[in-house]
Amino acid sequence: MTSRISSVSPAALVDFQWWRMAEGRWIGPKNQRLLAGHPADDGYQPLKSEPALFRRFADQRDTEGAFAEFAARYGDLDGGGAVVVGDHIATAEEMASNDPFLVYSEGRSLQIWRGHRQMLAFAVRLWDAINEGGADELIGTDLLVKPYDSLVEPGKPAPKYMVWTRTASAQRDLGLTTPKTFDEQFEPATPLMKASLPEAAARAALANLISEMCATVRVVMRVTSAQPDGLRLTFEVRSLIAAMWLQFALAVDGQREYRPCPVCGDWWDATEARSDRKTCSDRCRKRMHRQTVSGGTGV
Ligand SMILES: [Zn+2]
Repeated sequence: MTSRISSVSPAALVDFQWWRMAEGRWIGPKNQRLLAGHPADDGYQPLKSEPALFRRFADQRDTEGAFAEFAARYGDLDGGGAVVVGDHIATAEEMASNDPFLVYSEGRSLQIWRGHRQMLAFAVRLWDAINEGGADELIGTDLLVKPYDSLVEPGKPAPKYMVWTRTASAQRDLGLTTPKTFDEQFEPATPLMKASLPEAAARAALANLISEMCATVRVVMRVTSAQPDGLRLTFEVRSLIAAMWLQFALAVDGQREYRPCPVCGDWWDATEARSDRKTCSDRCRKRMHRQTVSGGTGV
């Protein structure tokens, strides 16, 4: 055995299929709203066909309409959820019924959609600020660095500071219990051993957030035997939200660069693109060209 493993990255080996949402609709009274629907017949591979999906989701507005549109285009965030019949959560009788004409669908609450979006958007904001050299602007608004005042594990050096992230409301939406908050807005995120520059604090917070959320939504490391060149390390995800956190983690690890398309507004992966390329696709490039030629009227 002298041959080396191929240069295929662990990311390229992720095999993840998902289903767009069919017949998606919001049901239920105010404060108990659920987005319910069925997986569409044909699956797709989000990680292969949608390289900037985590950015698109982070950019959504927190409205029922925006989430329903996202679900129709990319699918529900996860499988399972509340069982719905028609326009209400299934009753015990309906759950026990053998009626072949009852159509069940599954729903997820507005809080869950909003909590996941805000958590991911917060992490993406940290990443952008770090990349653009703007981490100091996060301090006081998105991040706090405060002296560390909790008990220290015996035998471990005492951290001096704690980085707090403004994620408390998203954590509450997701039902992630929290030991304590500051101002009901900030969560203790990660300790620092010494007073650090804002960029170091932002990096520590981002690393912690990605690690914690990948564990929460179950991004799992796997070794696959399905490769011709032997056993390979890869990842397994079983939900769209886990796929988006994995995609984000891989983007951070690979220092990938995304640019917004000036024509359609979508994010696209520009890591390997020429620096003067602006649009996401040939279609948008041609459209921009036509608009320039015709005097830039109408978008
Ligand atoms: Zn475009």
